[in-house]
Amino acid sequence: MLKIAYAPIYAHPLPEGHRFPMAKYELIPAQLLYEGVITEENIFSPQPATEETILRTHDADYWHRMKNLQLTDREMRAIGFPLSAELVEREVRICQGTIDCALYAQQYGVALNVAGGTHHAFKDKGEGFCLLNDFAIAANYLLHHGLATQVLLVDLDVHQGNGSAAIFKDDLRVFTFSMHGQHNYPFHKEQSSLDVGLKDGTDGDTYLGLLNDTLPGIISDVKPDIIFYLSGVDVLATDKFGKLKLTIDECKQRDEIVFNLCRQHHIPVAVAMGGGYSPEVKHIVDAHCNTFKVAKEVFGL
Ligand SMILES: [Zn+2]
Repeated sequence: MLKIAYAPIYAHPLPEGHRFPMAKYELIPAQLLYEGVITEENIFSPQPATEETILRTHDADYWHRMKNLQLTDREMRAIGFPLSAELVEREVRICQGTIDCALYAQQYGVALNVAGGTHHAFKDKGEGFCLLNDFAIAANYLLHHGLATQVLLVDLDVHQGNGSAAIFKDDLRVFTFSMHGQHNYPFHKEQSSLDVGLKDGTDGDTYLGLLNDTLPGIISDVKPDIIFYLSGVDVLATDKFGKLKLTIDECKQRDEIVFNLCRQHHIPVAVAMGGGYSPEVKHIVDAHCNTFKVAKEVFGL
């Protein structure tokens, strides 16, 4: 069974400038349903993650101020969204969605969250549209409950997974791998377990070659019980911020490399969407939908 976590967009209207980036979260499941890739049965709506679960990763002061809508204007500017109860509620559900995806992946091989990949969130601060770090929360959940002893984060969003790198800097149970634009946001990089920084203008051949040269060795060395895959589509040549040159087909080949390796090594994989900022929403939605299609195909679901 292909399981897909979908946290509904909060009802309150977003301010101008925030509507467009949120559109994909509704368009992706709609497109997959329209094309008959999935049915309603594949989609589930996650509950909010509990406070206990959140506090295994995030500082109590940061979380309580977020929950009580008391983050400062300065903190919210770094995050980039206006703070609201609905925003926090959605973020907390997304985090539980990623935990649920990890558990479903252990059962079915793969599961995907139509959101998440909030890799710029640190223990005690958020930035770059990320409040809470869903991969870190889910990894800590599995480790705490004895459901995994070694975790691998494969972060292929074009932006470095700085929050995840910092959170797990001294934790050998979680290997953080980030392949990203070296000269892109965040301009101060944290140190992941392994970083591959790409030059501006890197094309698909070079990108896929590097991934093929790197990921199999990481998987063999780390021997993870589970992989969290951040499948950001801001690697596309059409992306406003990405500065790389991948076509939609090359982005799909990237997903195939990751899923085929997971399948081959019998490692469950939980997926979160991450970024995607092509001016035409069709490019964003097509590239993200390919991730779901490839997952379904590779795992025979
Ligand atoms: Zn990104």
